[in-house]
Amino acid sequence: MVDAQLIRRGIRDERVLAAMSEIPREEFVPTEARVTAYTDAPVGIGSGQTISQPYMTALMAQCLKLTGEEQVLEVGAGSGYAAAVLGRLAREVITVEIVPELAVLARENLRRTGFDANVQVVDGDGGWGYSAGAPYDAISVAAAAPEVPAALLEQLRDPGYLAIPVGTLEDQELRVLRKRWGRIQSRTATLCRFVPLRGGEGWR
Ligand code: SAH
Repeated sequence: MVDAQLIRRGIRDERVLAAMSEIPREEFVPTEARVTAYTDAPVGIGSGQTISQPYMTALMAQCLKLTGEEQVLEVGAGSGYAAAVLGRLAREVITVEIVPELAVLARENLRRTGFDANVQVVDGDGGWGYSAGAPYDAISVAAAAPEVPAALLEQLRDPGYLAIPVGTLEDQELRVLRKRWGRIQSRTATLCRFVPLRGGEGWR
């Protein structure tokens, strides 16, 4: 997976590659889907949701330029896999999940695999961020929104990075926003298709 799906497509951050090699992705997919755990695609995890394609998890992590010191917010814990990856790259991760059963699943997966020491799963609508843990050096949003939610930009530290898929329900671009000296710069990393962000300022 790391060679064929990540390195060949331009993932260069050694810490991201090491984290993705280390974390057992098969532990984060349903038992019956284990054979597909390392395929180049999202995999269903129940409640109509998916664990993101490995490349997308790696690309988002790389775009956040983590060094190990950061306080990170993830919106959309799902299986907990991306949170485990971020947890290896940053000091602390808070991941918010709107579907209660998935919050339970993420917690169980993180605990069973031992990646829960610096990762906290919070129930709630992450479209409003999670102000109790703010400000965040980096924010990763695992579900697509029509616009960048203002609350997330407010809770982003200066300097800080925010990665989020923005677009329509069918078709989005992965935007990477950088807050620095009070200004926001935005670039598009790639085209993508994520599950929709619910509640908050997403689609209802
Ligand atoms: N990071 C996950 C991918 C999960 S897919 C992983 O590695 O497995 C996106 C997740 O976002 C889904 O679990 C969905 O329930 C959740 N979600 C959607 N809207 C949300 C919101 N407003 N707040 C928090 N989570 C949300």
